[in-house]
Amino acid sequence: MSLDFEFRKQIMDFHIGSEAIKYCYQCNRCTDNCPVAAVTMDFYGTSGYNPRHIILGSLLGFKDLLLNADKLAIWGCTVCDTCDEVCPQHIELTEVFSFLKNVSTAKGDAPDSIYAQAKAIYDSAKAIPSQPAIEKRREQLGLPPVAVPDVNELQTLLKNIGADKKLK
Ligand code: SF4
Ligand code: SF4
Repeated sequence: MSLDFEFRKQIMDFHIGSEAIKYCYQCNRCTDNCPVAAVTMDFYGTSGYNPRHIILGSLLGFKDLLLNADKLAIWGCTVCDTCDEVCPQHIELTEVFSFLKNVSTAKGDAPDSIYAQAKAIYDSAKAIPSQPAIEKRREQLGLPPVAVPDVNELQTLLKNIGADKKLK
């Protein structure tokens, strides 16, 4: 396990509020209130999803530890934002987790479901492609049809940031 100061700096730079993460005093309130931790951590807190551990690892620059761990360590977060709301130091934990997810994705280590959803968005400009059953239900409820997105426009935007190459 080694420290990576460049990685640490990247997290500091990415994090909204810049220096706030430095003030994490490991109170564990984020983990105590995290619904994912509640259903994945064992009694002693030694395994399962633990946002406090991720913040500590990020703060110390333990890149290998974070990125080479079980995928749950990074991808377990559902971005419910509870930890952001309860942190007494006003740390935007989910900003740090987004950064880690981006790094993991760039390495090609994201879960298959993430790439599949990204591909669906690229192909159809929708996170959840329309289905006849949904359209029928909307009609029954008196809702208008879902507007057809401009797939070409979205693909142009995604190509401009190189997302199409990452999907390959
Ligand atoms: S709630 Fe905030 S200060 Fe407490 S451990 Fe979590 S990130 Fe650190
Ligand atoms: S945002 Fe993620 S880490 Fe924070 S409480 Fe929700 S699931 Fe847990």
